[in-house]
Amino acid sequence: MTRPAAVTRPVAVIGAGPFGLSTAAHLRAYGLPVRVFGEPMVSWRARMPAGMLLKSTPAASSLDAPQPGHTLADYCAAAGLPPLVTDEDIVPVETFVAYGDWFQKHLVPGLERVRVSSVDPRPPGAYEVKLDSGEVFTARAVVVASGLSGLARLPPALAAAVPGGPGPAAPVSHSSQHHDLGRYRGKELIVVGAGQSALETAVLAAEAGATVRVVARGRGGVGFGEPPWRQPRFRPDSPFGRAWSLHLLSYYPHPYRRLPEALRHELVRRVLGPLGAWWLRERFEGTVRVTEVARVLGAAADGDRTRLTVRTHTGAAEHLTADHVIAATGYRVDLAAMDFLSPALRTALAVSRGTPRLGAGFRSSLPGLYFTGLPAASSYGPLMRFVCGTEFASPRLARHLAAAHP
Ligand SMILES: Cc1cc2nc3c(=O)[nH]c(=O)nc-3n(C[C@H](O)[C@H](O)[C@H](O)COP(=O)(O)OP(=O)(O)OC[C@H]3O[C@@H](n4cnc5c(N)ncnc54)[C@H](O)[C@@H]3O)c2cc1C
Repeated sequence: MTRPAAVTRPVAVIGAGPFGLSTAAHLRAYGLPVRVFGEPMVSWRARMPAGMLLKSTPAASSLDAPQPGHTLADYCAAAGLPPLVTDEDIVPVETFVAYGDWFQKHLVPGLERVRVSSVDPRPPGAYEVKLDSGEVFTARAVVVASGLSGLARLPPALAAAVPGGPGPAAPVSHSSQHHDLGRYRGKELIVVGAGQSALETAVLAAEAGATVRVVARGRGGVGFGEPPWRQPRFRPDSPFGRAWSLHLLSYYPHPYRRLPEALRHELVRRVLGPLGAWWLRERFEGTVRVTEVARVLGAAADGDRTRLTVRTHTGAAEHLTADHVIAATGYRVDLAAMDFLSPALRTALAVSRGTPRLGAGFRSSLPGLYFTGLPAASSYGPLMRFVCGTEFASPRLARHLAAAHP
């Protein structure tokens, strides 16, 4: 007897980073047919600098799984690596990528390394999914876990300097376009930004032999977090340090989506904002020069160098030159940049400032369409920007999807 098409139609998971892999593992545990697409751990493997260390602690760096035995600590034990367990242990990005690959092989074995080129609603209650391979199929539900892909953000003042787009060969690039910072050995480099990505990019380039200046907005120097042994003892714990606010955002994100819209977006932007990891301070200070500015006004090619124009705190315009400028200016969720979602689908979605508006179980306003990871942050809070957010997101999303689209 043949089964009705709706029962055999798979769930399509778009993304094979921490959120896509963790969600897929949970969906598979419900016995649902699942097809997972994407390059495994590509953001970590190719769009972050080699030699990077994770800012998150080992306890906050596991992909949530439906069954025990798949944490980062489990991987280290299985691979015969030294244990990474205390808050003072630091996770190299290469170890984390290998852990993600191991998780994928064990729990998401059928991963398809193909790009999804379009997703279109096919009412009632299904989606037509097109792949770069040319295949077209119907999915009963779609989970968007495309993470950082396509969302790198350049401030308008710097974007104007690179009409052909940023890149290592242009006057300005984005930090996500660098894996090997050794290319700047013997060069002068300006890194714009004050977050962990900016500070660690600067340190790694300096350690590779570049002369590096960080240009940061504001006053008071760049900041670094407190080491574990200096965390306040009488405040509640969280994956990000000890503080009531972080504890609530980490363990009680359920009511976040009911907060006023402006507050939700503001908290995603500001909570856990620019701050270097405690262990980076020693490597940074004395190695990297910091220039504090009121604003970055623009950039332009200056022969084969780049001229960065800034507004100083005295109100004057000043020019800084270097061989290249890297903008470590983060990521911004914008549905318009998710070009694999058809225009019809994007128009039909309920949005909040360019981000999908999500309800219970990470569902969007279109039945059968779910978002997790960074695009879910405006609905479920800053926790969704980090790997440890999989613990909250993946079981809830899978439970909702399995009940609504059995
Ligand atoms: C420099 C840097 C350092 C960071 N350090 C930490 C840290 O220490 N700890 C922490 O918790 N978080 C950290 N983060 C945040 C972290 O990157 C994200 O939390 C995490 O990667 C999000 O996982 P994800 O699965 O949502 O997306 P990603 O890891 O970005 O994965 C996206 C996936 O989607 C796939 N994809 C995209 N579009 C398509 C398509 N059309 N078709 C098919 N597949 C597609 C890609 O191939 C990829 O597999 C850091 C971020 C940066 C930039």
